[in-house]
Amino acid sequence: MKIAIMGAMREEIDPILATVGEYSTTEYAGNIFYECSYAGHECVIAYSKIGKVFSAITASVMIERFGATHLLFSGVAGGISKELKIGDLIMASELCQHDVDIVAFGHPYGFIPEGSVMIETDGNLRSLASEVAVDMGIELYEGIIATGDQFVASSERKEWIAKTFNADALEMEGASVACVCHNFGIPFFVLRAISDSADGSADIDFDTFLQSSAQVSATFILEMVKRLGD
Ligand code: SAH
Repeated sequence: MKIAIMGAMREEIDPILATVGEYSTTEYAGNIFYECSYAGHECVIAYSKIGKVFSAITASVMIERFGATHLLFSGVAGGISKELKIGDLIMASELCQHDVDIVAFGHPYGFIPEGSVMIETDGNLRSLASEVAVDMGIELYEGIIATGDQFVASSERKEWIAKTFNADALEMEGASVACVCHNFGIPFFVLRAISDSADGSADIDFDTFLQSSAQVSATFILEMVKRLGD
């Protein structure tokens, strides 16, 4: 088992690197990959940079070049569901790309021919996360996460994504990572702590809560790593 732990932004990965202790670094494909041993597991850690393209590159490299057998994503997201407050954790049941639009040809939003609108995360990793949440006394939400190359800071766009995909949270990398892992046959898990509500004050909230929410997500992911393979 080799575990990939990835985020999109430096702030999402810093708390993880600070905890794992010693690591080696490798530069490859325009990014830096950190390898270490943590809780008895070989790990490769990286932040991809923001968005679907960079995150797809990083996930692919972690699998193909670094031999990751499992991938855990840790980061922050905009909350859609009214139940989700800033700092709350949501794990993706399924993910979709809210900005894919070839509806002119009669396809539904988010659909690419020979693909599917939704990609499901690994059931075993979700079960493990549920156990970790109970043991840590943390409420862990489960729901659909919608991904797109847009920072959503408008109630109108948020409502459209909610209605079209039944999504509970939105961000900019999860579905592309899901697509990579699905195609390589790698079990994967996407966890996000809410940093903002994807509405008119999203930019200000994001800047205020990025670090604290990233820390919440990172702490949870590391607890999962400790228990993987138990
Ligand atoms: N402030 C940053 C940009 C952040 S983009 C800069 O200037 O560089 C937002 C990041 O957090 C993305 O990685 C995305 O996955 C996540 N995210 C959090 N809230 C979001 C929202 N409301 N819309 C889209 N992505 C969001």
